[in-house]
Amino acid sequence: MSMLDGKRALIVGVASNRSIAWGIAQAMRREGAELAFTYQNERLRERVEKFASDLNSEITVPCDVSTDSEIQKVFERLDDSWDHFDILVHSVAYAPKEQLEGGYLESVTREGFLMAHEISSYSFTALADAARPMMEGRQGAMLTMSYIGAVRAMPNYNVMGVAKASLEANVRYMASSLGPEGIRVNAISAGPIRTLAASGIKGLKGFLSHVEEVSPLRRNVTIEEVGNTAAFLCSDLASAITGEITYVDCGYNSEGST
Ligand code: NAD
Repeated sequence: MSMLDGKRALIVGVASNRSIAWGIAQAMRREGAELAFTYQNERLRERVEKFASDLNSEITVPCDVSTDSEIQKVFERLDDSWDHFDILVHSVAYAPKEQLEGGYLESVTREGFLMAHEISSYSFTALADAARPMMEGRQGAMLTMSYIGAVRAMPNYNVMGVAKASLEANVRYMASSLGPEGIRVNAISAGPIRTLAASGIKGLKGFLSHVEEVSPLRRNVTIEEVGNTAAFLCSDLASAITGEITYVDCGYNSEGST
């Protein structure tokens, strides 16, 4: 018996084989879950269809999370194949590149601030609300991806850190709203990983080296390790965990600085 036997999971946020969402999808499939995927736009369609088919899934649906009608259509499409599902994975973030370099006050704009919050935080709420009817009575789980920049001012992370702080608060409020229905809501705060989204942050290379030098495990985390934690948090083994931010970062957050 595997951790996620009999569960169905919707994965939002696969863009490449380096995506954290791809690590999560692989771990969830290995643990027995049936999967469905969204892709952001036409440019990513073929790639995500191929990833889905590698994990025995035929369900791929377009979804730009900045559009309510696209979010709604995801669940209409899902309803054609599934009468319910159990797990929602939100692994999505965006801020314009020029927001992610230099000092915070020097780079932040009203437009960049709103966009970072809409795509990286509000979209989790919007997806959760639309997913709710299909997750009713399932003792389901929702999961999103955060970063230590939510709680510490990290170089160049800037407005994305503020959006991640919003996302972490969102996790707690959503856990409070959905708990009485038996739905759990959690986040993983992952260490830095070289992905498409992370490549937009200035100084990523130096930061990866820094984590290798100072984290207790003296290395960086992998998408497989984040995937394993995600599978656990969304399984019934984690049935009393909700509203939590779990660090998967080789212990970096627990170290003091010198
Ligand atoms: P990634 O580039 O592989 O994934 C980002 C995803 O966001 C992509 O699939 C992209 O299509 C999607 N996206 C962006 N704007 C969207 C929109 N408008 N509509 C729909 N989808 C949209 O990068 P990743 O690092 O795997 O990022 C996944 C999550 O992990 C993000 O929330 C990121 O902040 C978080 N995270 C990443 C790191 C890291 O170092 N890579 C560390 C901690 C947390």
